[in-house]
Amino acid sequence: MSALQINHQRLWSRLMQMAKIGATVNGGCNRQALTTLDKEGRDLLIGWATELGCSHRFDEIGNLFIRKEGTQPELPPVITGSHLDTQPTGGKFDGIYGVLGGFEVIESIIEQNLEHKHSIEVVAWTNEEGSRFDCAMMGSAVWTDFMPLQQAYDLKAFDDGARVEDELIRLGHKGEHAAKAFPVKASYELHIEQGPVLEKEGLTIGVVTGVQHMSRHHLNIFGQECHAGPTPMAMRKDPVQALSLLLPKLYAAADKFGEDSRVTFGMLDAQPGSPNTVPGKLSISMDLRHPDEASYNGLVADAYAHIKAACEELGVDYTLEETWKAPGVTFAKDCVDAVQAAVNDLGYSNRQMVSGAGHDSVHVSKVCDTSMIFIPCRDGLSHNEDEYASPEHVGQGGDVLLNAMLRSAQ
Ligand SMILES: [Zn+2]
Repeated sequence: MSALQINHQRLWSRLMQMAKIGATVNGGCNRQALTTLDKEGRDLLIGWATELGCSHRFDEIGNLFIRKEGTQPELPPVITGSHLDTQPTGGKFDGIYGVLGGFEVIESIIEQNLEHKHSIEVVAWTNEEGSRFDCAMMGSAVWTDFMPLQQAYDLKAFDDGARVEDELIRLGHKGEHAAKAFPVKASYELHIEQGPVLEKEGLTIGVVTGVQHMSRHHLNIFGQECHAGPTPMAMRKDPVQALSLLLPKLYAAADKFGEDSRVTFGMLDAQPGSPNTVPGKLSISMDLRHPDEASYNGLVADAYAHIKAACEELGVDYTLEETWKAPGVTFAKDCVDAVQAAVNDLGYSNRQMVSGAGHDSVHVSKVCDTSMIFIPCRDGLSHNEDEYASPEHVGQGGDVLLNAMLRSAQ
């Protein structure tokens, strides 16, 4: 099969048009899930789809599907998509690129008169970001039965307390179709990397083989509040001192499991929070990630052992619990191979990699063969108004998606 291309310029201009809806003064986008602006963005896409003669439908949780029929419409479709909602200070590409890239694939197929047996569907999943409602990847979670529909309906917005279901009704996006996975031949998601690796290595495409294991933990270390002046160092029970023993060991554990380890302490809170009081309590969040299951388990076990040892050494009490966990995913070989073959046909520089962030494809991969395609983003920035991917990379990622999808759909 010779390598086909999408219309790079058209995809770029659509991305820029979409970015005007909810544009922020700093060049980013604020188009949060189930707001009037979110509806405007979806309406823009539906308008383009209708012009092209494609049908669209909403399911009960507002997932929007756009369909281009294949020559054998009774066969399960090949799907692609991502999300149109953004963070409050989000960018123009995270998610949007996957939806509009998928739509460009449909338009290129029509324009170039390419035949495909399986129908092609582009989906915009509802509320991927989880910034307005406290559940990331909500639409795909409901669709794959990971989250009950009613539980999603009852989520309330951080900003105005509105319920998901009420917002869906207000916007006219509560569809009649069951929010339930249907048979799918294969699923692809095109996305910016949201990390610095591709850019740093000067590569065009990331062939994504899976998503890493990740979990969040909450650690409290208890000491004893006392005056910072009169109390000699040796006579203190200082939880921050325990932390000073811990951190080198925890970072060393990350080293031990190789460059794919991720150990992050994003929240550190010493209480009562006074400059001249030795803290009585230290609360710490610990985020642990690794793509390899055995290494991930080793990293978690080491972290727990080091925390126990350090607290015992200093004679301080502690509590430690896992508060959130997302098991890693290995994408289907057929889909990864289809992406790799497409990249090879196109001759784009590439590497295989795992995703460091969660995506709708994590849920989707539970019900059908799935993989993802990454392109570089400037300085690895995402969830940031400065998020940027070059028109060239945007177009090339679209080319890969087109060829991978046709491999599955023919
Ligand atoms: Zn995203």
